[in-house]
Amino acid sequence: MKKLSITTRITIWYTAFMLIITVGVLGILVYAGNLRASETAKTLLTDSVTDASTEVKSFGGDFVVDDKLNFYEDGVYISIYDGRGQLIEGKIPGEIAEPPVFDDKEITKMKDDNGDAWYIYDRLFEVDNQFVWVRGMVKDLAEQSAFSAIQRLAIFAFPALIVVAALGGYAITRRGFKPVREMISTVEDIRDDGDLSRRIALDKELVDTEDEVYKLAETFNGMFDRLEKSFEQEKQFTSDVSHELRTPLTVIISQSEYAKGDETYREQALEVIEREAKRMSGLVSRLLTLSRSDSGRLTLEKEKVDFAELCTMIAEQQVSVAKESNIIIETDIDEDVFVAGDEAMIIRIVLNLMDNAIKYGRDGGKVKLSLSKDSGFAVCSVEDNGIGIAEEDLDKIWGRFYRVDGARSKEGEGLGLSMVEALVREHDGKVRVRSCLGEGSCFTVYLPLA
Ligand code: ADP
Repeated sequence: MKKLSITTRITIWYTAFMLIITVGVLGILVYAGNLRASETAKTLLTDSVTDASTEVKSFGGDFVVDDKLNFYEDGVYISIYDGRGQLIEGKIPGEIAEPPVFDDKEITKMKDDNGDAWYIYDRLFEVDNQFVWVRGMVKDLAEQSAFSAIQRLAIFAFPALIVVAALGGYAITRRGFKPVREMISTVEDIRDDGDLSRRIALDKELVDTEDEVYKLAETFNGMFDRLEKSFEQEKQFTSDVSHELRTPLTVIISQSEYAKGDETYREQALEVIEREAKRMSGLVSRLLTLSRSDSGRLTLEKEKVDFAELCTMIAEQQVSVAKESNIIIETDIDEDVFVAGDEAMIIRIVLNLMDNAIKYGRDGGKVKLSLSKDSGFAVCSVEDNGIGIAEEDLDKIWGRFYRVDGARSKEGEGLGLSMVEALVREHDGKVRVRSCLGEGSCFTVYLPLA
């Protein structure tokens, strides 16, 4: 069987619940009311009978009842009998055809011919050595009034209550689920036309409320924001990769054409081809590292690495490269700094930073490689006095393929720092940059000590 919608189900539950509560509360009220009405009737009955007994006198063997006595007052019927049960005076309700036998000081309950309940109370007195019965009868109004109250409620109030509860419940639930319907239609639209820029229209009145469904819709919109952004990045990334690969490929193809036609140029062409192929290989290797890190598949060959020895080696290697730009390499490397990591990856981290420091360094300037220990971390920094980075670019340089405009004259594709950041993260470390445009930059890597 097809399940009902949540709105309908909640409405049904809500209405049933309201009914149960109302019937329960009414039941308690009627019961308490009945109890009280019965008690009042009984007290009135016994008091009336006791009062009436004082009004019976005897005169020369005959009973005389005082004129002041009312035989019917406040619903109580009073009747007086002699010791043999013969009625002397009084009123008896017509509905009771057969009154019960006398029972001194006991309240008995009986039904009349119409089925209504009565309380009957008898007292036996002695007046001038003769027995007199005084009997009081009162209708138990409680049952009657309760019955009619329930009937009235059942006939008018209950159907009205059900309708009000059902309509109210339906309206509240429908309103509450409005964002859910919006969500369904937005998600369906996105599914059908793939337009991730769509958002669920949110009710402005609900901003900053505790409305859970509103919060769910808001979370959905947040998720769409992230999805859209990540799809955009994905598209941009694919286009950047294609562009970066196409440039060296075009050079390789054209150089191959030349080499085929001109034998004298062949040697030179092969060198260009080799250089471009190496560039492509470097690019592909950086892309692979990044994609493995993204998918959590980057395996590190972790061992105890002598970070100090490694930095000294890289500094020495870079001296000749730096010389081409008239840059001096300085070092300030503490001994005995060991980290747990993948040696090849740590070399790539430091080499990339050194490479950038020289590439974006000042002609005739210097690059300083330092290594020390601080609070459980090996602190390796690469400082240059080159072109520096503007404040607004400092966050962006870690983005894939991002290059500051002023750096475009230099070779590169903007993947180095993204890769450094990923590799440092894989080693549970962090990397920070300080820089001032026109004055130089300082990149600092923190790796946990072994
Ligand atoms: P690439 O060097 O290939 O452009 P990177 O990811 O290594 O890519 O660097 C991204 C950008 O950050 C560079 O293009 C450059 O604008 C800036 N940058 C990186 N290192 C330095 C530095 N030492 N000095 C100035 N700018 C730098």
